[in-house]
Formats: sequence, structure tokens, C-alpha cells
Amino acid sequence: MKIAIAGFGALGARLGVMLQTAGHEVTGIDGWPAHIAAIKTNGLTVVHDQETPKVYQLPVLTPQEVTGAFDLIILLTKTPQLDRMLTDIAPIITDKTQLLVLSNGLGNIEVMTKHVAKQQILAGVTLWTSTLVKPGEIHTTGSGSIKLQAIGGADAQPVVAALNEAGLNAELTPDVLTAIWHKAGINAVLNPLSVLLDANIAEFGTAGNAMDMALNILEEMQQVGASQGIKVDVSGIIADLSRLLKPENAGNHYPSMYQDIQNGKRTEIDFLNGYFARIGQQEGIATPFNALVTRLIHAKEDIERVK
Ligand code: NAD
Repeated sequence: MKIAIAGFGALGARLGVMLQTAGHEVTGIDGWPAHIAAIKTNGLTVVHDQETPKVYQLPVLTPQEVTGAFDLIILLTKTPQLDRMLTDIAPIITDKTQLLVLSNGLGNIEVMTKHVAKQQILAGVTLWTSTLVKPGEIHTTGSGSIKLQAIGGADAQPVVAALNEAGLNAELTPDVLTAIWHKAGINAVLNPLSVLLDANIAEFGTAGNAMDMALNILEEMQQVGASQGIKVDVSGIIADLSRLLKPENAGNHYPSMYQDIQNGKRTEIDFLNGYFARIGQQEGIATPFNALVTRLIHAKEDIERVK
């Protein structure tokens, strides 16, 4: 399959290497000059589970350089960057192209429907992870999975087969929105609270009131979800959080929002807690905790940018 990965950062590069290794024709699309230059000069370096680095040669082009048609475009920008990426790659999207969004957060499908027909949209949620340690180098660990659904009812089986040829453990789900909201619930707790408390996941788990704060966020999210026809399973999210927070599972991992703040980048807060607050306001649902968390993270973004 001819596949483009739009957003060839940490996770996009990991998936790109796996798909290319399985024999697919993969093109990375990215706009970060230092990253593109490093891959062009030295290849993409992947350090998996702290083993010996492996180097892969893949074409990585800017949206302005890329031409041709692709069977599948996997969208892996940060969520606030999705709209711009879709605008930038419009010339390579044909009516036969399927687009699979795997970025975290809520609202991606709404953004995609501004650019392509519903029939072309595949939405997914992934448990694969990756860290970009410097331009041209990613560190990966463990394995993951992907759940996806064709939002307009198109046949997504060939995409699932292609992903599985690459060992990506993909499966179709009849209700991807529930899975997306579930993951957004986990992220809406761990990401901003790690930033605001300056704690990694293991440290956050030692806070006596960690679960009380999680419930403050999730109960508002549940009401907002219900207004959108989404059943949010708060106790299921709390059960997952309790597992993640156990010291033997959490380790010293810092959520991605913590890393974004450290790197002076804009976070995905408006597509997590900020999304709940925004929809809550539209629907007349009070979301004081999520509104405050969103404001605090935006303040932190501003402060870190100035520092
Ligand atoms: P990242 O910042 O490493 O990668 C995004 C890439 O997109 C960057 O290299 C950036 O240069 C590029 N980009 C964005 N907009 C662009 C544009 N208009 N033109 C050209 N290039 C553009 O992010 P990531 O960590 O790979 O995460 C991507 C998404 O996947 C996020 O939504 C994240 O929450 C989600 N996610 C990440 C992980 C992980 O472990 N990294 C795990 C699960 C989900």
C-alpha cells in the first residue's frame, strides 16, 4: 500500500518504520527542518528498548514538496496542528485517499470533515508510544495496538490488514468514539496534573487525593459526553488510572504534555479538558474543574515560553 505519514514526529516515525519494514511504500511528511535534514543525512535512528540503535532510510518531505497520490494518509500531528496539516497536504488528497487520524484528544473528526468527505475518514486510537529525543532519533519501548472505525462506513479492512502486516495490532471497532473518549479521559487527568504538580506518573500516584482530582475532571467529562451521545465509563477510566499509577507500572514516565511544556510547545489541552469546558459551556453544563485546569495550562504555556 502507498502510505504517507503526515506528522513524521515521534509516533509517526515509529509507525512509518514498521510499515516500511513490512513492505509498504512509506513517505513521511513533516515540516521541521532539522528533523528532515537529520533523516536525509543520517537516516532515522531508532533505539528500541535501549538496544543497539538501528538506522532506517525513509523519504521525508515537506507538505509543499510531496506529490503523487496515496492509498492511505496517517495523520499524526499534535491535535492543534491537524487543521493546518490538512490544509497543507490538500493537493495530495484524492477522493480515493483514506485518511486515518491517530492523534490524541477530541474534535479530530470535526476538523477532518472540513477537509474531506466523511467516507474517507478513519478515526482511531492507539496505545503505541514513542519519544523523539533529538532530530532524526526516536526511542521506543514495548508494543501497542490500534482500534479504528470508518466514520462514513467505508471498507477499512484493507487498512487494518496493512497495519497488521506491520505488526501494529489493529482492529476495527464499531464504536471508536467511546474508545477515543476513554483515552481522552485518562489523558485529561494525567497530562495536565503532571504539569501542574510537576510530577511524573509515579509521583502523581503518591498524592493522597490523586483519585479525587481525577473524579472532579471525569465526572464533568461524563456529563459533557452524555450531551454528545457518548457514554463515558468513569469507573473504567478510574480502574485504568489506578493500574497506571501503581509504581511498578508508572515508572518515571512523564506524560507528553509535561514534555511539551518543557520544550516550550503548545499543548493539546484545548482538545482534552478545554474541549469538555467548551462543549459544557455550549450545552449549559458546569465544568469548573476542567475550565480552571485549561486556564492554568495555558498560563503555564505562556510562562514557560517567556522563561
Ligand atoms: P510530535 O510533535 O513528535 O510529531 C508531530 C510532527 O508533526 C512534528 O514532527 C511536526 O513537525 C509535524 N507537523 C505538525 N504540523 C505540521 C505541518 N502543518 N506541516 C508539517 N509538519 C507538521 O508528536 P507525537 O508525539 O508523535 O504525537 C502525535 C500525536 O499522537 C499526538 O496527538 C499525541 O498525543 C499522539 N500520541 C503520541 C504518542 C507518543 O508516544 N508519542 C502516543 C499516543 C498518541
